[in-house]
Amino acid sequence: MTLTKKPEARPARASWGLASRGAPWEYAPAPEATDHIRIEPEYGLFIGNRFTPSKPRRTFTVINPATEERLAKVAHASKADVNRAVTTAREAHRSSWSKLSGRDRAKYLYRIARILQERSREFAVVESLNSGKPIKESRDVDVPLAAAHFFYYAGWADKLDYAFPNRQPRSLGVAAQIIPWNFPLLMLAWKIAPALAAGNTVVLKPASTTPLTAYLFADVVKQADLPPGVVNIITGPGEIGMELVRHPDVRKVAFTGSTAVGKMIARAVAGSDKKVTLELGGKAANIVFDDAPLDQAIEGIINGIYFNQGEVCCAGSRLFVQESVHEALIDKLKARLGTLRVGDPLDKNTDVGAINSAGQLAKVQELVQSGIDEGAEIFQPDCELPDRGFFFRPTLFTGVSQSHRIAQEEIFGPVLSVLTFRTPEEAIEKANNTPYGLSAGVWTEKGSRIFKMIAGMKAGVVWANTFNRFDPTSPFGGYKESGHGREGGLHGLGAYLDVSGNDTQAR
Ligand code: NDP
Repeated sequence: MTLTKKPEARPARASWGLASRGAPWEYAPAPEATDHIRIEPEYGLFIGNRFTPSKPRRTFTVINPATEERLAKVAHASKADVNRAVTTAREAHRSSWSKLSGRDRAKYLYRIARILQERSREFAVVESLNSGKPIKESRDVDVPLAAAHFFYYAGWADKLDYAFPNRQPRSLGVAAQIIPWNFPLLMLAWKIAPALAAGNTVVLKPASTTPLTAYLFADVVKQADLPPGVVNIITGPGEIGMELVRHPDVRKVAFTGSTAVGKMIARAVAGSDKKVTLELGGKAANIVFDDAPLDQAIEGIINGIYFNQGEVCCAGSRLFVQESVHEALIDKLKARLGTLRVGDPLDKNTDVGAINSAGQLAKVQELVQSGIDEGAEIFQPDCELPDRGFFFRPTLFTGVSQSHRIAQEEIFGPVLSVLTFRTPEEAIEKANNTPYGLSAGVWTEKGSRIFKMIAGMKAGVVWANTFNRFDPTSPFGGYKESGHGREGGLHGLGAYLDVSGNDTQAR
């Protein structure tokens, strides 16, 4: 990438701490083995527990973003294939899944959860190969959390009447689920686990750049012996997603992705009785007060924006620092940035892997250039990037003002914009000055201040003295252009049920 202004840079560092003579310790490569996984040369659509070619037979190529090498070819679904998948799912709902007791559905979900655990290493490697995320994240976050969602919702499957008392909860039918490329397996689990627990069947469309763990999951579905048609997975471009959304037999639409596509989906289902949840973009404020433990806050800031290369809807991409500690905090942050290891996602030491696609990298580059052009001060550690693949240095902007594009637009990359504030009121006002409202973070010693900030900020999730913590029991979702509806917890289960029942009290 060519930036028109050379960033202030620190020495390269693929190291941690200092060796006895003062020289940095270098890390030896620690690549995760790939000989235990198998990626098929070609994947068909997964409909009715079978992989079948699209009709007409068309495919597209899926690559490894860290090397730009081909991983596999996958089927390009047609409108007729969408119909085939939805019809299969509807029939499975009618004839088998909706007839099973909650206890039996739970057994299948527990089985899936356990298989995911047993095959976790395989899933982690395929996820990192296909998405570009560091193996330590797919291994320690994505895969365990995906299994945790199946365990959690398995627990609810036979307790729906207790979860929604006097509401006579009923399944909806076929759920259309469209997921993005930043957490391919985890988003699949967020969507499929509550849908199945509630008694629905699903047709899921993964993002075109990251379908491989979804197809590996299809293998788990077969291994768990789920009745055919309960889980169907189809691949194809955005238009295929829209065909799925519009299909008349779809009763529920669940989407995670960009705000632009979320709005198109909202328009497409307007006037129908389809239930919809939209989990869209974010531009989270991470707010550090002068009484916060700074070293702890630094780790939260790093985790908030450089985790998963910043390709996280709830990333803490706007850092608000109280003026009195701004200088000290920025010095520490720059030093810490210099210790991040950027490179091979399969290396167990890697902190920042590859950006998911050439298109996403170009978007990050364009927004970073806009930050420079608008007068913000850029800092990047002088680390070496691999020769091939879609990599971007962890980036920090200081001197950012509220009107800069890098303070307003979702970058979805490893780029942090730093702003300052003096009072809690000013921090709240600035934090809320965004079209989004998904998440936020507060760092302070004072409990009362945490509550004041939480009450004042328009954000679906607020983390206090931590960041990017996820748990299947906790609902997640946004305000404003971050979407509507909640996933996770009981709220996420309710979104897959007709709970209109006859509870007049509750209405
Ligand atoms: P999209 O919203 O385009 O993609 C998300 C999913 O929606 C993918 O499965 C995609 O399929 C599908 N899709 C695309 N167009 C349509 C459509 N018209 N109807 C139905 N489904 C559709 O996000 P992008 O991949 O283009 O990323 C663009 C930006 O969106 C990012 O830079 C980031 O800012 C934001 N984003 C936010 C996410 C979040 O978690 N909130 C996740 C991903 C992106 P396909 O892959 O085949 O295009």
